[in-house]
Amino acid sequence: NGLTMDDYPLSPTAVVERAERFHTDKDVVSRRPDGSITRTTLGACAHRARKLATALTDLGVSEGDKVATLLWNQAEHLEMYFAVPAMGAIVHTLNPRLHADELTFIVGDAQDRIIVVDESLLEVFDSFRLTHHFDHVIVVTHNRPAPAGMLDYENIIRDAEPIQWPRIDERQAGAMCYTSGTTGRPKGVVYSHRSLVLHSMAAALPDALGVSTQDTLLPVVPMFHVNAWGLPYAAALLGARLVLPGSKLDAVSVLDLIETEKVTMSAGVPTVWMTMLDALDAEPNRWDLSLLDRLIVGGAAAPRSLLEGYDRHGLTVVQAWGMTETSPMGAVSRLPADLENCDEKTKYEFRTRQGIAMPFFDIRARNEDGEFIVWDDNAMGELEVRGPWVASGYHNDTGADNFTEDGWFRTGDIVRIDSRGCIRICDRSKDLVKSGGEWISSVDLENHLMAHPAVAEAAVIAVPDERWGERPLAVLVLRTGMTADTVQLREHLSTEFARWQLPERFEFVSTIPRTATGKFKKRDLRDQFTA
Ligand code: ADP
Repeated sequence: NGLTMDDYPLSPTAVVERAERFHTDKDVVSRRPDGSITRTTLGACAHRARKLATALTDLGVSEGDKVATLLWNQAEHLEMYFAVPAMGAIVHTLNPRLHADELTFIVGDAQDRIIVVDESLLEVFDSFRLTHHFDHVIVVTHNRPAPAGMLDYENIIRDAEPIQWPRIDERQAGAMCYTSGTTGRPKGVVYSHRSLVLHSMAAALPDALGVSTQDTLLPVVPMFHVNAWGLPYAAALLGARLVLPGSKLDAVSVLDLIETEKVTMSAGVPTVWMTMLDALDAEPNRWDLSLLDRLIVGGAAAPRSLLEGYDRHGLTVVQAWGMTETSPMGAVSRLPADLENCDEKTKYEFRTRQGIAMPFFDIRARNEDGEFIVWDDNAMGELEVRGPWVASGYHNDTGADNFTEDGWFRTGDIVRIDSRGCIRICDRSKDLVKSGGEWISSVDLENHLMAHPAVAEAAVIAVPDERWGERPLAVLVLRTGMTADTVQLREHLSTEFARWQLPERFEFVSTIPRTATGKFKKRDLRDQFTA
């Protein structure tokens, strides 16, 4: 009779219901900014989310409204992840490390109606609160009452009746995040229920993040940064324990938490794992990390020195690639079975690549002439992607240029693709150095510089040059007590690079400025060194 399957909506609501029914006792551990630990469970968060939804409805939130969060990785943030989409509204995570002007722009652009703020972030909130009208401000309090005129998170939940979740169309919007503006004005990306669910399921697959009920996950990546790469929903779906580290993300605090909470998997940007590696190298026997199975690194390229460093400590680092516009997971660099017995060099060659596209995630790349490149690991082109968790446009119709006529998203990443379909990010289109008509990859130079024993951090930028158009300039942070001069660094690079690719200028600094998500802020370096 033509009938096929039930049209069951793919919605995080089912994830929240599952958490409440099947993963009731699974821990959700939060560390407060003062270092104290609070404990609750997936079941309790899901139940409280039903009360929170009633409270938010009473405050006037209805379908399609945006509710902003200014929270760390903490249980209340998980409750917002649960309640807001499931009630039909949109949870909009704000990055507290952004500049007040950027936050002003973002809350105005999104038209957020209500905001939930952690007590420790009230000062950040103060820096932009007067620039936008919020119907209500709700404060998660721990040590002091909510300021006058603001509501207390616990008070509004306490007496609310738990809601029965409505059935929601899977194409409806459920969450929102702004691109972090590394390359320009932030743009709003709106995730649908369907995309949130499909992304968490795909992210949880064995050859992606490989999340199971046996796991204890510690997202160092903030919940305000692209849904913490899908880990919170994946944990709720599979019933993994969640350890939410709050605001203190220094190496020792994270290592302490990994040890005491028996964490099996953690995820964050390379800079986080670089500082953690230094701490491990300094005190290799201080922490028992025997249960830690894998560290996921993404958001910027993982240099070989990072992978080798963790290998020395018996810890596996897996690289993943993604963007705000891709929910974010797009590719994962898991060693294919046929490479398992290969020599070390081949393995590292693979593991420093950004990986193979996830299922349902289509990739292709186009060169400067608009032709699709062949997958021979030599031709370079801009990566274009599409799939059920890739944006089809931005909030308020900005950035149409980022999409092709046939609807693929143009990533701005310049890649090579090998014959098995594994991508290598050579650069962002705007970071590539074009010297005498030839491209030089800033990422390759950075990675090789960071393999020098005296170099702690390296960022390479293009600077204008009369003769060549552009030349690479390397900005370096040296390890304490170590030295390296221009001649030695050029010598070191010349084992891997042609003479014309070597930077002439090396600038030594004490720190490299970072974006709000912990990546090197090349825009600032360009301003500083191209003047
Ligand atoms: P922003 O665009 O502000 O940096 P995103 O978090 O969306 O914010 O960053 C996405 C970009 O980060 C990608 O386009 C890519 O350039 C870079 N990126 C992400 N993961 C990796 C990776 N594993 N290796 C290299 N670059 C990466």
